[in-house]
Amino acid sequence: MMEISITKTDKPQEKPQGVLGFGRIFTDHMFLMDYNEEKGWHDARIVPYGNLEFSPASAVLHYGQETFEGMKAYGSGGKCYLFRPDMNAKRSNLSNVRVSIPQFPEDDYIQAVKTLVKLDADWIPEGDDSSLYIRPFFIANDPFLGVAISKTYLFAIILCPAGAYFGSLAPVGIRVEDEYVRAVRGGTGRAKTGGNYAASMAALARAQAEGCAQAMWLDGVERKYIEEVGTMNIFFKINGKIVTPALSESILSGVTRDSIITLCKDFNLTVEERPITIDELIAAAESGELEEIFGTGTAVVISPVNKLRYKGRDIMVGNGDTGETSRKLYDTLTAIQRGKAEDKFGWRMEI
Ligand SMILES: *Cc1c(COP(=O)(O)O)cnc(C)c1O
Repeated sequence: MMEISITKTDKPQEKPQGVLGFGRIFTDHMFLMDYNEEKGWHDARIVPYGNLEFSPASAVLHYGQETFEGMKAYGSGGKCYLFRPDMNAKRSNLSNVRVSIPQFPEDDYIQAVKTLVKLDADWIPEGDDSSLYIRPFFIANDPFLGVAISKTYLFAIILCPAGAYFGSLAPVGIRVEDEYVRAVRGGTGRAKTGGNYAASMAALARAQAEGCAQAMWLDGVERKYIEEVGTMNIFFKINGKIVTPALSESILSGVTRDSIITLCKDFNLTVEERPITIDELIAAAESGELEEIFGTGTAVVISPVNKLRYKGRDIMVGNGDTGETSRKLYDTLTAIQRGKAEDKFGWRMEI
């Protein structure tokens, strides 16, 4: 076990009332830990939530050497659960390898998350669409403007109470982006690193300008194969079968994606993980075989899509409402996450 020093706040904040939204309210405490070459990871501590102080020359601010994770704690009936935190700890290290951030012991990662969430457990909102969002992140912190692998790092975890992300299960429109790309083979698409998101904003702006909520990403070489949507993995229900792009170097391996595939198989649905082209998708929509599209990710769980906008044209998906499979998957997964359904895959961790 790692030793974590705890300094509690003497000014606990008022808990928010009413609609929570996402990502703007933070709890009373945060976890911090430093890295340098002599000591490795050291000085694990929980302190009152507040601003960080570092040099304007700090490496992360200029060259973006950083990674992050997103996970949630769920409360119900006085109990509190994490969902598959081992997957996040492991993926965090895969991301860190790609951007040359030192590895972090996975047991210590989970211990840090658990200790912080327990301390701020009274911030976990009750309610079926609410949860406590957990954001662990690593940043390169050398005060040096040369392009170099940083020798010092900060690992931090912050928490925010969250309501439904887009409004749960409200269907959205997405715009197929056929010029900008998110990731390429050999690039950083499989890592959760900030630069990927910086590079995605221009496509988001275009999508929003055309009345859509997110951009759908095509592959970086042929602009043909579908990869992801916004910051989510993507699924299609075509003629009764579930199709999702096979994982590759340019697709982020979502914990929700993995869980949804398992649940679909458990529902006896056929799941195909394979390359799928935008042409196949449009043809399926036009022939009436495209029944549902949904994105998956920790923040949203399931985000149904009712409209595709491609080359200036709108294509309706299904009948425009949230599909039955989207709803069933959402209900099943959120019930498991909150301890309201049997956990037959061993995904929950009570803390
Ligand atoms: C985080 C993320 C996802 C979803 O991953 P989950 O583990 O399901 O939250 C999908 N795509 C991208 C690009 C992401 O950053």
